[in-house]
Amino acid sequence: MTPEEILDEIAQQTRVCTRCPLHLSRKNAVPGEGNPHSRIMFIGEGPGFYENEQGRPFVGAAGNFLDELLGDAGFKREEVFITNVVKCRPPGNRDPEPEELNACKFYLERQISAINPDVIVTLGRVSMNYFIDKGKISLIHGRDFWSRGRMVVAMYHPAAALHQPSLRNVVKEDFAKLPSLMKKAQAARQTSTVSQDANLDLPGDDPAGNDQPEQLSLF
Ligand code: SF4
Repeated sequence: MTPEEILDEIAQQTRVCTRCPLHLSRKNAVPGEGNPHSRIMFIGEGPGFYENEQGRPFVGAAGNFLDELLGDAGFKREEVFITNVVKCRPPGNRDPEPEELNACKFYLERQISAINPDVIVTLGRVSMNYFIDKGKISLIHGRDFWSRGRMVVAMYHPAAALHQPSLRNVVKEDFAKLPSLMKKAQAARQTSTVSQDANLDLPGDDPAGNDQPEQLSLF
């Protein structure tokens, strides 16, 4: 199957999925959207009110800000792929429960595998902790990690910057690093022997061997 076909199949499956209790309160599943061949993938926490209404990720004010951030980094929304760790809205916008994350992994992992991006950008704490379980976002935002042979960059959720204006410039500065991080990731994946099955490496770790394990003490 092509990436397009796999992503379409996943989208259809999420719309009728009953693997976790979030299906009980959803109006529309939000499987994600964008370029099936994107070299970069953005993963948020879960659909909010407007996303649940429309079945699309990152709409409303946070979505507008994400579009602005993408534009500043030289991307158009349609050129990248955007999704969430859970595809149905947690009631009241609460964090997804571990069993919900675990159930929805079935879709996220297949999306990552189909798209095979060089870089995954996590948006918010829940998404970050999916890949970097010991991470604290205030310490590691805007920095690159290696997880299972892929670069992961942790970012604040765009909605956080809307609620906390002091974060706005921080988020913008972090997004501005993405073009150079993508080049770094592409070069590393082309030249390295990083295993796709490797466990999460340490902060700042890269396949060229420039890891900085002492930074783990920050967590
Ligand atoms: S959140 Fe994911 S696992 Fe749960 S019902 Fe929705 S699509 Fe299925």
